[in-house]
Amino acid sequence: MFDNQNAVIGFIGLGNMGSGMTKNLQKNGFKLIVHDVRKEAAADLLAAGAVWADTPAEVAAHSDVVITMLPTPKLLDFVAMGPDGILTGMKKDGWWVDMSTSVPEVTERARSFSEELQVHIVDAPVAGMSAGARNGTLQIFVGSTEEEFLALKNVFEGMGDPKKILHVGKAGAGYAVKLMINQLWFSHLVATAEVLAIGVKAGVELDVLVKSLVASPANSNFLEHDVLSVLNHSDYDEGFAIDLACKDLGLSIDLARSVSVPVELSAVVEQIYRRAKSQYGDKAGEMTPIKLYEDLIGQDLRMAIHEDIIGQDLRLAI
Ligand code: NAD
Repeated sequence: MFDNQNAVIGFIGLGNMGSGMTKNLQKNGFKLIVHDVRKEAAADLLAAGAVWADTPAEVAAHSDVVITMLPTPKLLDFVAMGPDGILTGMKKDGWWVDMSTSVPEVTERARSFSEELQVHIVDAPVAGMSAGARNGTLQIFVGSTEEEFLALKNVFEGMGDPKKILHVGKAGAGYAVKLMINQLWFSHLVATAEVLAIGVKAGVELDVLVKSLVASPANSNFLEHDVLSVLNHSDYDEGFAIDLACKDLGLSIDLARSVSVPVELSAVVEQIYRRAKSQYGDKAGEMTPIKLYEDLIGQDLRMAIHEDIIGQDLRLAI
């Protein structure tokens, strides 16, 4: 078990998610050694006692567990196995935990790349958005052996909600669970936007329409909570860029292809997301596909605030 007082955690990728996760690890007593291509992203951590490393190899050489939180599998591959990559600095029996939303191909390649080192390679992607990373309430889906899961539990609890840290199966299972969560959530978003646009265009008041849907068998967590971010607050969630959402949808469809499951619906959702990305830009929020429907009907979908009927939890859940 890696404990808060002695374990040194190496962390690579200090963006929207990594910045909050590292601050919580630090708050929970872990010593940190950090790296990012943007050194400025580490300023607060260094001021609070973290150590900077110039390369991923240097991170690996000086830490007990290396965590990565990076945008794409391609970058992950480079950071793990490129020149000065994690695995060139890793000690024998070292630990690498990838918490990015990714696919097993990179970690499988890493296993053969570092066979003689017997590295523990674990996938542990997260849900809960940048707000969850900041607040230390992330959900974490761990793909590993039972022993590896137990050894890392303390570290995960330094970043996530203990009730939501789940051992979901062997290596690779964490990635698969995370991709399926995102796929379903994005599908909910598109279906909800479509229905709201039709109803409003047909002359129903948005508040009445939402209230009726929430009270009906067609209700969903997305309708009851998450969509309110847009309907009440015009917040399309730039904390998760649509560029990354499209990456996740692409990975999800690749996964479906690799297990020979035809996915007509997911493919359409992906195309709608890609359309929104090309229309509103890479950095637009993950909920921007709703804007496509707003543009289509020539009207923003905005409620007079009706939180009493729908509840207070306006933050997103992926
Ligand atoms: P981000 O783009 O905000 O941060 C990525 C960080 O990686 C940046 O600080 C960037 O400078 C750094 N980086 C890029 N290339 C690097 C390299 N070669 N070496 C070192 N550092 C490098 O992304 P994010 O939103 O924090 O997402 C990270 C991962 O978490 C992604 O896989 C994403 O899909 C997943 N995720 C994001 C959210 C969210 O709400 N943002 C939620 C759940 C999961």
